[in-house]
Amino acid sequence: ILGRETKIRSLEALCKSLKGTVVDEEALREVFTKDVELERIFLLFDELKRKRIRVLFVKSDPEKGRYSPLASFIIFEQYGYGLLRSGVPPKILVNTVKRRLLEKKLVSICLHCLWHGEFRVYEIDEGFKCPKCSSRVLGFTYPSIAGDVLRCLAKLRKKKKLNSDEAKLVRDLRLSSSLFLSYGRYALITLAGIGIGPTTAVRILERSLNEDSLITSIIEAERTYLRTRMYWN
Ligand SMILES: [Zn+2]
Repeated sequence: ILGRETKIRSLEALCKSLKGTVVDEEALREVFTKDVELERIFLLFDELKRKRIRVLFVKSDPEKGRYSPLASFIIFEQYGYGLLRSGVPPKILVNTVKRRLLEKKLVSICLHCLWHGEFRVYEIDEGFKCPKCSSRVLGFTYPSIAGDVLRCLAKLRKKKKLNSDEAKLVRDLRLSSSLFLSYGRYALITLAGIGIGPTTAVRILERSLNEDSLITSIIEAERTYLRTRMYWN
């Protein structure tokens, strides 16, 4: 077992010293039984030789959040299961999460005329207004609950009483609209986080000094949610 701080150079030396030993053999045996399906690889080479499949070359660029399918698998697996536990997340993770947040779909609802529409976060700019009545007081919610939220708003307009769950939906929508007025797209990026409702979003937005620290706080909040959700559901 090697420490995290082990240098590449000493790893190379270690590999050389173990070559041909039982450790070397065992490592290869493990790779070929656990990680690699040799038959499939031969099949793949065969298909390549016959030009029935093509190799697509993709250059990864961690700075831009572009990386190989293998690397992305590792990042998502590790991230999803909370194994990257502590410390500041690496830039590559921040970029990856940012891209996911910008792609997330939210439903915008005008609190003035109840117009609504579904958008991806990146599609909404700071000056976004209701296309119907030009109001800037727009709430944001998730596609899965937008229908319920709209029903509650309609009920409220008819002066009908809301139960506590319904009242919370309306309260969350109003809170999201004031977050959007104060923080613009950053509010939406935050609300796009997994398990982050408007109340958590307020805390995150208030303490974030710049975009990177915002994404880092979102990652922290998502980790907490993923770690603890089994106790909530
Ligand atoms: Zn409107």
